[in-house]
Amino acid sequence: MKNYKIDTLCVQAGYEPKSGEARIPPIAQSTTFFYGKTQDMADLFDLKSEGYFYSRLANPTVAAFEGKVAALEGGLCGIGCASGMSATSLTVFTVAGAGDNVVVSSAIYGGSYNLFSTTLPKLGIECRFFDPDAPAEEIEKLIDDKTKLIFTETIANPAIIVLDFDKIAKIADKYGVLFAVDNTLATPVLCRPKEFGAHIIIHSSSKYLDGHAAALGGVIVDLGTFDFKGNSRYKSFNEPDESYHGLVYADLPVAFGTKCRAQMMRDFGAIMSPQNGFISYIGSDTLALRMERHSENAKKVAAYLKKHPKIEWINHPSLPDNKYNKLAQKYLPDGQGGMLSFGIKGSVEKCASFMEALKLITQETHVADVRSCVLHPASTTHRQLSEEDLKKAGVPHNLIRLSVGIENAADIIADLEQALAKV
Ligand SMILES: *Cc1c(COP(=O)(O)O)cnc(C)c1O
Repeated sequence: MKNYKIDTLCVQAGYEPKSGEARIPPIAQSTTFFYGKTQDMADLFDLKSEGYFYSRLANPTVAAFEGKVAALEGGLCGIGCASGMSATSLTVFTVAGAGDNVVVSSAIYGGSYNLFSTTLPKLGIECRFFDPDAPAEEIEKLIDDKTKLIFTETIANPAIIVLDFDKIAKIADKYGVLFAVDNTLATPVLCRPKEFGAHIIIHSSSKYLDGHAAALGGVIVDLGTFDFKGNSRYKSFNEPDESYHGLVYADLPVAFGTKCRAQMMRDFGAIMSPQNGFISYIGSDTLALRMERHSENAKKVAAYLKKHPKIEWINHPSLPDNKYNKLAQKYLPDGQGGMLSFGIKGSVEKCASFMEALKLITQETHVADVRSCVLHPASTTHRQLSEEDLKKAGVPHNLIRLSVGIENAADIIADLEQALAKV
């Protein structure tokens, strides 16, 4: 499937039925798989042959979705996880342990921020945050011989900062550190980080990949662009894994992906369910079409809000005067996605009355599905934070996050208009 364009891969990749088999991936709702010969099973356990034996490690329905996402990102393999959060956690655990550190963009999804700032330090993994807009020299200072990972987002949620890939890729290259990118809000339709120096991709497939707010999930993609062999930073890849018959992961064609699945998925068990694999697979059939529409709609909505007298500021990379417009032209030329944020002039109360006046656009703790939705972080996800902490987190009190859906743009704009009239 390598030579097809991205929209073709969305529809076709990951599953090729043999004659007489179901045209779309059947839901293999089974914990285990049958083998007639002991040796066949033994070969599977030794990773000598490929196949399914227990759905905590691999499942045919989940494999169809994993294969599709890997093809879309141009990677060697995908690993379906229970959620985007488990995809991020397993990525860290594959390379880092107590005493190590990871270097992380401070502009990331709130759940990921908590993982890095609170939970991983409790396990002895230190997290060093950097401002993604900081110059390379400042970010480089955070790297030492215990650094195992650089972690960023293509389009940061909810700050909508576009990543300067070249800057980070150069640092990763210079120090031989693994560079992972959460590509959830861009999707491989709008940006393929492999082309810009990334090594590992993480997705929350709960968002655009599924696209219908129906199935929680995550995917890790090993792009196969990082050489672990002989890199002294990664001893656990270069020394035999005694828990897996002395396997040396750096010697394998798929080093990261194999270690992640054989060791981390085996031990943590945060696997995607067959049902969610199925929903995500068929949902992602329309990904290319949807991303085009999400991007077009968001561009129209941003242009409308930009001119509205009650709007104090608006943030979408499609706007020519947006701080990230140049980076978007370079890394997101085909569309900048459906996420935007804006501020209404005046108090927090005005935000609440605006949100309540919306009729078509609903209030939800979700983004990136076909339906338009809004969230006011200061009164919901970020309500524990003081006014000062909100500023530090890049979330001003009047910030409203709008995830623009694929409805008709005129209806979305009309709904915003009538609600703004009531403020
Ligand atoms: C939602 C989200 C996550 C977490 O994914 P879940 O599937 O909710 O666990 C991670 N990264 C980004 C950018 C997200 O938007």
